[in-house]
Amino acid sequence: MISFKKRYIIYFIDIILPIPLQKTFTYSVTEEEASYLQKGMRVAVSFGKTKMYTGLVFTIHQTAPVLYEAKDINQILDDKPIVNEQQLKHWQWIASYYLCSLGDVYRASLPSAFLLESETIIYKNEVFNDESILNDDEFLVYEALQHQSQLTVHQIADILGKKKVMPLINQLIEKLVISIKEEIYETYKPKLVKYVRLHSQYDSNEMLQALLEELSRAKKQQEAVLSFFQLKASKKPIKAKDLEEASGVSSAVLKALVAKEIFEFYHIQTDRIQYKGKINDLKQLNEYQEVALNQIKDSFTKNDITLLQGVTGSGKTEIYNKLIQETIDNGKQVLFLLPEIALTTQIIARLENYFGKQISVFHSKYSMNERVEVWNNVLESKTKAQIILGARSSVFLPFSNLGLIVVDEEHEASYKQFEPSPRYNARDAAIVLAKIHNAKVLLGSATPSLESKFNADQHKYGLVELTRRHGNIQLPKIELIDVKEKHRKKEMKGHFSDRLLKLITEALELKEQVILFQNRRGFSPIVECTTCGTAPQCPNCDVSLTYHKYRGELKCHYCHYQRAMPNSCGACGSATLNTKGFGTEQIELELKELFPDHVIGRMDLDTTRGKNGYQKIIGAFEAQEIDVLVGTQMLSKGLDFENVSLVGILSADSMLNFPDFRAHERAYQLMVQVSGRAGRSKKQGHVAIQTFNPYHQILQQVSTTNYPEMYKEQLQDRWQYHYPPYYRLIKITLKHRDYTKVDTGINWLAKSLQNVFKENVLGPSAPAVARIRNQYIKNLIIKIPPKQSLGKTKEQIQKIKNTFEAVKEFRPIRFILDVDAY
Ligand code: ADP
Ligand code: ZN
Ligand code: ZN
Repeated sequence: MISFKKRYIIYFIDIILPIPLQKTFTYSVTEEEASYLQKGMRVAVSFGKTKMYTGLVFTIHQTAPVLYEAKDINQILDDKPIVNEQQLKHWQWIASYYLCSLGDVYRASLPSAFLLESETIIYKNEVFNDESILNDDEFLVYEALQHQSQLTVHQIADILGKKKVMPLINQLIEKLVISIKEEIYETYKPKLVKYVRLHSQYDSNEMLQALLEELSRAKKQQEAVLSFFQLKASKKPIKAKDLEEASGVSSAVLKALVAKEIFEFYHIQTDRIQYKGKINDLKQLNEYQEVALNQIKDSFTKNDITLLQGVTGSGKTEIYNKLIQETIDNGKQVLFLLPEIALTTQIIARLENYFGKQISVFHSKYSMNERVEVWNNVLESKTKAQIILGARSSVFLPFSNLGLIVVDEEHEASYKQFEPSPRYNARDAAIVLAKIHNAKVLLGSATPSLESKFNADQHKYGLVELTRRHGNIQLPKIELIDVKEKHRKKEMKGHFSDRLLKLITEALELKEQVILFQNRRGFSPIVECTTCGTAPQCPNCDVSLTYHKYRGELKCHYCHYQRAMPNSCGACGSATLNTKGFGTEQIELELKELFPDHVIGRMDLDTTRGKNGYQKIIGAFEAQEIDVLVGTQMLSKGLDFENVSLVGILSADSMLNFPDFRAHERAYQLMVQVSGRAGRSKKQGHVAIQTFNPYHQILQQVSTTNYPEMYKEQLQDRWQYHYPPYYRLIKITLKHRDYTKVDTGINWLAKSLQNVFKENVLGPSAPAVARIRNQYIKNLIIKIPPKQSLGKTKEQIQKIKNTFEAVKEFRPIRFILDVDAY
């Protein structure tokens, strides 16, 4: 039979949707739309019966899908691509390497404002009040939000009586009329405290004499200068406010002295290095840095990736700066990756001091609008986004012309994202990103991860070392304190040995500051009944509750469950509840009793939650308003305080006994990094480590900062027990509320995997906390020997996963794949 149907040219687009399904989806478009659309533009589409999503154009073609009839798109949202070719390449690598969907990567990459969908919740911005700039439809939405505190995109479509509302909502976001719901982000503005110092010309005594005489007729000003010297005796930076108070003069008097160039004002958080809003020249490198810089440049002619192993305080940042300068001089972009927590004003200020407005910062504490702005600036290659200083998610920004990626503290565990998918390691993703751009990568650390050091050993990466601190200050002296011995001799006061107390007292007498590290927060991790031995457990997780004394609460650190501390045992009614173990809160309280005349601060998840949380504490410690700072591992991340002479580690043992193949490597890194906060600018620092086990090989290696030995021993273990960097690991996790379901599922899976991978399947096993938020958890680990094809292995795993998910009773189980799960 002959068909008389007229033949049209039909066009299709394959789009990425922000959902965890493995493939792209085909929609049909008109010829006109097809010629307008480009890869990387967004379109609004409907999906399923009622859902609406923002999709991203991936390919434009003429092949109709075989299995379903392509729907029309709803509308086009962009007039130019917002995601570029290089990004799409990068996304494809991430999806295939980390076994996730392009949709997962898409969702993780774009600021949520770019991903409106039918269920997105819209709020009105309280500050908006200029109705005159709104058109009719916009006004309708605005008015509706006066009556209802929130609306979904779907509801807005109903109100306006039309389906195509995404551009309108985008406009409302741009006009700052509305915002969309997500976690509450805070704008990132450090609080500035004004300090006073004497102009450098008055450094000599004669000048000073002359000055006081000169001021003899300006009594108030003289008063201020005299008070300044009284305050200066404390050796602490002097706040303008304190000086006004002490001398009884007004701020006008101080201003007059500043105008006469006798005093100058400065802000510690932004301009410890005389930052006056102008851009300073880079520091002159010392001879060792100079050599290292040349070695790096030389290495870059042969290796795209180079590892800079430089001891803490050796001045790695100054070397990065030189390379950054050269890269931007060549008109290329720079990405400077840091662990989230290290992204404080300290490092930002240090870089702004040199590069001024060429830097943009990108991390999760930024508001949605700020992140959109950075995205757009990078997309348009604006000068102010030439250098991006960011946490792991900044590898997803739309770079078009990267020349250099610096990964500082490359060993940091926080570069790895565990939840949600994509479970990527930002360092590794950065290396691939650099390859796409033909850019260089510099990995920096005092304590490189075993895998990076191994890659350098195998000549996959170049290696440059820096073994001296700047100013030739010696690395801190590290001593181990045997607390078993101290207990026996009754030389402990609470959790402090007499030795550690002596060191703290000495440091404080010299007006120096102290950092104390305890890797647990709260007061104590276990509360136990002395009669029956019962310890209160979290009802949702298989873990005992941590006691927080200040709030009189028991808390779960996994699900945030909390309740009041009971007066008696829930099991036997006995009133003798005992606390076991100790956390930062207990240390802080003990210190306050031991050193009542000093200011004790605490930095952990509990004290850094609020607005500019850690910023505030770091600022106060930097300004020397805090004498002793107690904290968790947050303290180890690249902070630079000039007046810290002593670091104490209260209990090294829990770090060493952690059930993980990397525990020893991590313990070494953590202790050396924390130690590295001591004695950075003036004289050799001191570190005291309390332990029950001073002969443990890792502690011996920490106390002599013997990285090579640690590296060698750990590598032997990894080889012997088949772990990275020799073997690769893929972890499979199943989660469900019903224990039997998880158990049956994991056993089925274990058998199927063992058929293929034999003895290289580990488990099934339950993690240390086997139930979190009422979800039971079971793991399997697949080890991939050096010669086994990674691609093929992943294919086989994927196949088994597909079969698993086809079994009806397994379908509700959450199936998590984690590649390089460490
Ligand atoms: P790292 O990152 O290697 O631990 P930093 O880059 O933080 O070390 O440097 C440690 C300290 O030494 C910083 O306060 C820094 O300002 C200072 N410093 C490093 N190199 C120089 C230099 N060439 N001239 C002056 N000061 C320097
Ligand atoms: Zn009891
Ligand atoms: Zn819990």
